[in-house]
Amino acid sequence: MTTGNAFYSARDLAHVWHPCTQMKDHEDLPMIPVRRGSGVWLEDFEGKRYLDAISSWWVNLFGHANPRINAAVREQLEKLEQVILAGFTHEPVIALSEALTAIAPRGLTRCFYADNGSSAVEVAVKMSFHYWRNVGKTAKRRFITLSNSYHGETLGALAVGNVELYKEIYQPLLMDVITVPSPDCFGREPGESWAEHSTRKFAHMEAALAKHAHETAAVILEPLVQCAGSMRMYDPVYLALLRQACDRHGVHLIADEIAVGFGRTGTMFACEQAGIRPDMMCLSKGLTAGYLPLSAVITTDPIYAAFYDEYVKLTAFLHSHSFTGNPLACSAALASLDIFRTDDVLTRNRSLAAHLGARARELEAHPHVAEVRQHGMIVAVELARDKARREPYPWQERRGLKIYRHALSRGVLLRPIGTVLYFMPPYVITPEEIDLMVEVAREGIELATCD
Ligand SMILES: *Cc1c(COP(=O)(O)O)cnc(C)c1O
Repeated sequence: MTTGNAFYSARDLAHVWHPCTQMKDHEDLPMIPVRRGSGVWLEDFEGKRYLDAISSWWVNLFGHANPRINAAVREQLEKLEQVILAGFTHEPVIALSEALTAIAPRGLTRCFYADNGSSAVEVAVKMSFHYWRNVGKTAKRRFITLSNSYHGETLGALAVGNVELYKEIYQPLLMDVITVPSPDCFGREPGESWAEHSTRKFAHMEAALAKHAHETAAVILEPLVQCAGSMRMYDPVYLALLRQACDRHGVHLIADEIAVGFGRTGTMFACEQAGIRPDMMCLSKGLTAGYLPLSAVITTDPIYAAFYDEYVKLTAFLHSHSFTGNPLACSAALASLDIFRTDDVLTRNRSLAAHLGARARELEAHPHVAEVRQHGMIVAVELARDKARREPYPWQERRGLKIYRHALSRGVLLRPIGTVLYFMPPYVITPEEIDLMVEVAREGIELATCD
């Protein structure tokens, strides 16, 4: 069939170099061309459907081809597709900035836009460094980051991240950062609570701040869930302690909410669970409900004010991207926030998350499931060769790939990170679809651990 999957797959593999992929894998791993999407479902060119259990790399919130977001983008398309954001502005970016500052932690009042998550991290890093320079503290030019953290792939974002698989090779190109052990609760002692473990781990951060505050611009971290770092999770108490310590030591706190923002952890922003306001909050992914590339760094009036002066003082933040604040992307973001408001999404998600968590925890009885953990609409299942000792499978065995393949054959898109299987579905998923997703995961785990 010249219109089936093979037709598109062959053309693709002749010219497309895919992200985060060893292309040789596709000698036997099928490439799935997607013809259309609807709700949580993706459909290929042979009519086979796949439940998008990972929200197309954590971006989609309200399903594919959502009628309300489609209508908003279509309406904007008829008016204005793109305009320079320096010297010019447009209604969607004004309205979005009003809407974001209204829902962000109080005191975050200024929105700076970029067009992807990594760029937002670059903006926050440069902005923090530049702020301290503008106020005369030129020694403050280092960053503190957590082990196992992830902040994107561009060189600055890669430098402040810590996932070895992505970072190690490029180390010679990267700025030097101060890395502090993560509060990740997978490593807690038996009987120790998440809060106890995260509090105990804070001692490392306190020590790093005490030693390096004079030369440190900011601490950057992912609130509550280190997503790319195998969905490792920690307790909100760590964020509360960090806020106090950053204030005490005069260091910025950058919250990278690119993956966890927009309801993923149960609250609109994960920081809310600790009742804190970061100095800069990075948003992307769910910002446009997964429709179009857009990111934002939201910061405070005092930080904004440190850049505000006569041009000749050269204190301005002269950073830009061509597609900064694109109107189509802003219109998708506005439609998404409208859905949050009118459909009371966070309340509905509470019962969905309860169902997802309950079903997923049934997997905990399996002899190779070391832990099932959850923060809201993110649930992770960590496999281990030795469950009691939490000893991982050698990564070379690629057991997660077996789960991926099995799930595809059953019409579910699961994409384990190593041997950590996770569910991060669009919020329009039904309880029945959750049951299917977890059942297919159970089969996949069975298959991947039977030898
Ligand atoms: C995905 C992600 C990024 C990078 O965003 P891109 O749009 O992929 O560049 C940064 N930080 C976190 C926490 C992420 O999950």
